[in-house]
Amino acid sequence: MQDKLMLMIPGPTPVPEAALLALAKHPIGHRTSEFSNILAEVTENLKWLHQTQSDVMLLTTSGTGAVEAGMINFLSPGDRILVGCNGKFGERWAEVGEAYSLNVERITAEWGQPLDPQAFAEKLEADKEKQIKAVVVTHSETSTGVLNDLETINRHVKNHGEALIIVDAVTSLGAVNVPMDAWGLDVVGSGSQKGYMIPPGLGIVAVSPKAWEAYKTAKLPRYYLDLGKYRKATAKNTTPFTPPVNMIFALHATLRMMKQEGLDGIFTRHQRLMQATRAGIKGLNLPLFVSDDCGSPAITAVAPAGIAADQVRAIMKKHFDIALAGGQDHLSNKIFRIGHLGFVSDRDILSAISALEVVMHELGYENFTPGAGVAAAARVFAQS
Ligand SMILES: *Cc1c(COP(=O)(O)O)cnc(C)c1O
Repeated sequence: MQDKLMLMIPGPTPVPEAALLALAKHPIGHRTSEFSNILAEVTENLKWLHQTQSDVMLLTTSGTGAVEAGMINFLSPGDRILVGCNGKFGERWAEVGEAYSLNVERITAEWGQPLDPQAFAEKLEADKEKQIKAVVVTHSETSTGVLNDLETINRHVKNHGEALIIVDAVTSLGAVNVPMDAWGLDVVGSGSQKGYMIPPGLGIVAVSPKAWEAYKTAKLPRYYLDLGKYRKATAKNTTPFTPPVNMIFALHATLRMMKQEGLDGIFTRHQRLMQATRAGIKGLNLPLFVSDDCGSPAITAVAPAGIAADQVRAIMKKHFDIALAGGQDHLSNKIFRIGHLGFVSDRDILSAISALEVVMHELGYENFTPGAGVAAAARVFAQS
């Protein structure tokens, strides 16, 4: 059947009708008061979502561009930085740092395990000369479904005093609490196709006053991603370059939806979606890839030992038109990942878990009582 695709990958995520209709509108000139008014409201609502009084800026990039901008605007060649690496995205920020000739030190944990805040504390406490200029942390590591303990890691960064904390919040913002000002986060990067519920194409980056101080002396080259240009333009409710105006119409629509649901509503919904998904997987006696205490509210990875994960995904797609994500790098074919981020409701989880039951049965996996996955997920929803 056409147009029944159910996206359960961790980005792009499903898009609500209000945003689809906004995308279908005639574009307008970006140097008009009509556009400025929309951008003004979008910027206000982005600050609300980031829980910040600082600058939040829109870039025409994917999420990677937002985080790359968040790194290169505040650092100089040779600067020492710590990068948390426990998955594909953490590794990416280390590579960005190396591409820009930074002195990158990886703080690693096995994929599927959370970063150890103590490992950051040791490096930071030993740095009496204050040579560490930034610590880069991926809050929700999408490649494995781990939620890293950003709050504790950040506390160690604050004790250091000098280093900036740069956060990849691409799959945590809009799913879990990221109180930028209360925690004193310096740079928070994200992308439109995740918690924002719109298609890929916008990068969002928020910058603290402390990071702007570092900007003044930072020497890495920058032009299109020079955040100073965006800051100046945003203050006048405009953009330095032509923005994707219809994407901003769509963001305007979804931010209004988010405000209506409220931050607490958004966070508890994602928490519930995660718990129901995990309960459903346990009900099917399938191994979760990440333990209960560090699961991401955006995504759940399953390691169906003895069964090719890609086969599960292929049949889910063919039979039910449900798209799940696979594993990356050495986890290829070892795990599949269920995205439950953004425009996702309880109903979607019940559909996915029941479809998964059928698929596992088709694959000859019988290690569960029929209906046990759905029953377990339903119990979570009944209780909350
Ligand atoms: C999706 C994602 C990104 C950004 O990826 P793009 O493909 O550049 O949008 C960055 N970090 C995490 C954790 C992500 O999930």
